[in-house]
Amino acid sequence: MSGVRGIGEYCGIFGLYGPEHASSLAVLGLNALQHRGQESCGVVSSDGRRLHRRIGMGLVGDVFNHTDHLALLPGMAAIGHTRYSTAGSSDYHNIQPIQVITKDGELAMAHNGNLTNAAALRRELEAAGAIFQTTTDSEVILHLMARSRGASWEERIREALVRLQGAFSLIFLSPEGMAVARDPLGFRPLALGQLDGHPVFASETCAFDIIGAKSVRDVEPGELLVVNGDLHSSHFAQSSRRAHCIFEFVYFSRPDSKIFGENVDKTRRKLGKALAFEHPAEDADIVIPVPDSSNTAALGFSRRSDAKFELGLIRNHYVGRTFIRPGQQSRADGVRLKFNAVEGVLKDRRVVLVDDSVVRGTTMRKLIHLLREAGAKSVHVRIASPPVRFPCYYGMDFPDEHELAAHGRDVEELRIALGSDSLAFLSLDGMLAATGMDPASFCTACFSGDYPQAVVDAGLPAGRQPAGPDRLFPRTSTTQTGERE
Ligand code: SF4
Repeated sequence: MSGVRGIGEYCGIFGLYGPEHASSLAVLGLNALQHRGQESCGVVSSDGRRLHRRIGMGLVGDVFNHTDHLALLPGMAAIGHTRYSTAGSSDYHNIQPIQVITKDGELAMAHNGNLTNAAALRRELEAAGAIFQTTTDSEVILHLMARSRGASWEERIREALVRLQGAFSLIFLSPEGMAVARDPLGFRPLALGQLDGHPVFASETCAFDIIGAKSVRDVEPGELLVVNGDLHSSHFAQSSRRAHCIFEFVYFSRPDSKIFGENVDKTRRKLGKALAFEHPAEDADIVIPVPDSSNTAALGFSRRSDAKFELGLIRNHYVGRTFIRPGQQSRADGVRLKFNAVEGVLKDRRVVLVDDSVVRGTTMRKLIHLLREAGAKSVHVRIASPPVRFPCYYGMDFPDEHELAAHGRDVEELRIALGSDSLAFLSLDGMLAATGMDPASFCTACFSGDYPQAVVDAGLPAGRQPAGPDRLFPRTSTTQTGERE
């Protein structure tokens, strides 16, 4: 990903119920999910009587850097969260898991996604006297639960869930048990695993591998799983439609994860192969990736072309991803900090530079410059997804439309702006076909402008609402029963 962003919410969540030292396993799981959020993190554990929490700004290794931290998180159940701050700002109060005390006892929650009716719900709750502690969309869920008259906490969760719209993968923890839910369209991945017979939940299956857990299946869209001894499954909403975020395959998930029933690595290779098929760079000498997120797509590209795969850019792993660091200035500085060109690989070579996507284009422009400085004879840029032209309202942090490199530009204008010798993007159909899945099961809104669900009121400034009802509303309906299409 050569682009970066500026508003939204992107996170990783993890939970496990039953094993000893649950919090230390949760910290390991969060380490594997670090790529999903690097600004803050936290863990809440349950000892069966009360909850214990540690949260902090920074990487998992910074926040949990002493065994004493784990000693203060006792119990055999724990949930965790890694967060990239976005619409809710990088305030300490916004760090998750959120923990509250309700009339029914203690409750904690970790959320991945973005609620598209959050502001409307918040206004309603505030009018009824609710006082919010954070600026995140996630907190409305806890307020809805706290106001519920449901007899059990499962009922209270269910009552809250049917009010929500947008993307939500959620893990709740109370001294009574754990509950896990996924929105009816299944925007964000959420998997169920097993560790010595105990249930484990994570945004991505790579978090199971690190603790030796086995992957069992995806949490189904619209499913609510409750754990308090047994694992009980039910559905709080039904939808025949799916809107899995295709950007998870393109960029965000780790290649060693399985999401939406498919291996990310395999799919990303196929994206690279499809790109080489659609847009070969016939006289190129070498194919190089923008490391690390494009390594797999570049491998796929080189397999389908005569050009050899090489590592012409080296990434410094000890600075955060530009994607993850809010603020344009920090991004600009981050490019030089993060990448260097390998002159011995690049000098006098015709280079294909493969990237998974272009959002702002800031990094890509600088990388092309770096390659030329290192002696590349020509630089042909190939992107393993279509141009990003529209904002995301479902949890991926894209900037305003006018900050998108492809906004208002055709491919040739974009090529000139980036400074490459040629530029080509994988087509929407080519991207969807490469997944091997039903094309209708994906959200592609940031590429196509075809939003699978209306943004009722996510608290966005007017300029960030999707432009035009034609594009936004035809595929959406909400039934009286809370069932969402
Ligand atoms: S708009 Fe793009 S990033 Fe957002 S959920 Fe849809 S495909 Fe994913």
